[in-house]
Amino acid sequence: MATIKLHFLLVPHIGPGHAIPMIDMAKLLAKQPNVTVTIATTPLNATRYGATLAGHITAGLPLRFLEIPFPAVEAGLPEGCESTDQIPSLDFVPNFLSAIDMLQQKLEERFELIDPRPNCIISDKYMSWTGDFADKYRLPRIMFDGMSCFNELCYNNLYTYKVFDGLPESEPFVIPGLPDRVELTRNQLPPEFNPSSVDTSAFRQRARDAEVRAYGVVINSFEELEQEYVNEYKKLRGGKVWCIGPLSLCDSDDSVNSKRGNVASIDEQQCLNWLDSQEPKSVVYACFGSLVRINTAQLIELGLGLEASNYPFIWVIKSVHREKEVEEWLAESGFEERVKHRGLIIRGWAPQVLILSHPSVGGFLTHCGWNSTLESVAAGVPMITWPQFAEQFINEKLIVQVLGIGVGVGAESVVHVGEEDRFGVKVKSEGVKKAIERVMNNTIEGNERRKRAKELGIIANNAIKEGGSSHLNLTLLIQDIMHHAYTSNKEP
Ligand code: UDP
Repeated sequence: MATIKLHFLLVPHIGPGHAIPMIDMAKLLAKQPNVTVTIATTPLNATRYGATLAGHITAGLPLRFLEIPFPAVEAGLPEGCESTDQIPSLDFVPNFLSAIDMLQQKLEERFELIDPRPNCIISDKYMSWTGDFADKYRLPRIMFDGMSCFNELCYNNLYTYKVFDGLPESEPFVIPGLPDRVELTRNQLPPEFNPSSVDTSAFRQRARDAEVRAYGVVINSFEELEQEYVNEYKKLRGGKVWCIGPLSLCDSDDSVNSKRGNVASIDEQQCLNWLDSQEPKSVVYACFGSLVRINTAQLIELGLGLEASNYPFIWVIKSVHREKEVEEWLAESGFEERVKHRGLIIRGWAPQVLILSHPSVGGFLTHCGWNSTLESVAAGVPMITWPQFAEQFINEKLIVQVLGIGVGVGAESVVHVGEEDRFGVKVKSEGVKKAIERVMNNTIEGNERRKRAKELGIIANNAIKEGGSSHLNLTLLIQDIMHHAYTSNKEP
């Protein structure tokens, strides 16, 4: 088979948790021989995520952006609202979803600009229109869902067996057909099976339909982390599953990683200096991803739990519309003053990968988003788990029960995005403190957990190196598309 120059068209979702790993993926693909990459995204997202690519592109990496205008105003959104973390309130979710659908026509109008013609489209699960787009232009579509194989298998078996139907919402049930016994309750399930107050069922069903007919799936994970689940998921998908992560390890340059996902709200050097001044493995890093906006009463419990644990900490606060009351509490309660010698508060966006990879960090208090989870694994850092919504309770099961590298704070049910004010305090400071201590303390249990996390971190780093499982899978993915391009070129 002659070597063909391959051109991948990547269409990320326009939300950080899905876009960030796909930008990493674009970088990784473009570094392979005979591969060029075009990322189709909206102007503000191209600027936001382009920051980690600019240096590489200038140095000749064959990667470029194709900007597609985002019809924010057309769809009834405020001008400039181009990302899930900018949606002003739940009322705007339907507008945002319809704007996403309008992108199909916008990209079709620009298809001729994508030169040379792509050989493959890799697109986010929730850009479900890319399924029809791929059919129209006869491109194999590889789906990216930003989740693990563990999660994909859980979703599949929940869709297939619907064992939760009719159960009381807090009654545990076992997800059937998994290599491990995994128990959940209905009120811990993601919105596909546990709808929020905004009806997104049609949108999710279209994503599911497009997923089922996708040519293959690319996963941000590595095989050794969840081998049995990878094997099972491959069986389901006829083998076309490629684990190529952890994608966060695709760049080891601190100055690049400090811009990953957004402009950091703290100076890179200030952050590193603070971390350098702490003891090895002593710091708790607390961050709930890009979307979680816990209510103020809950935020206070979290802060008090961090304080009571007595460990130094970095706490990332994204209070947004609660900013005034959060700032009042930080100042008037004396919290910030009391913890100033051992607590660093970052208001806004933190350079997460940079922080997690610092030797002073000993534990990650996380909402269990898949990127955060895998970034913690890659850094060899055990987790304090506090799932909030989406598939995060499923991720918690993987972290705590299957991998044994985390301790839960005791969260019992989802708080869907935007519904934070419907609830009061669900987790008390005492629960936060106890979980932190179990992870951080020098006990036999804590040491074993730390050892497992460290070992997984080493395996994760090896997976992406030449000869590693993810490196090999990337080669296999490219060979598969090469073969597909070759045979479709020969078709009459
Ligand atoms: N992130 C970051 N700084 C922040 C918040 C998030 O760099 O202050 C990054 C984090 O490293 C991860 C992503 O944003 O790559 C969040 O993805 P995840 O799946 O963990 O959570 P989501 O935001 O989708 O809930």
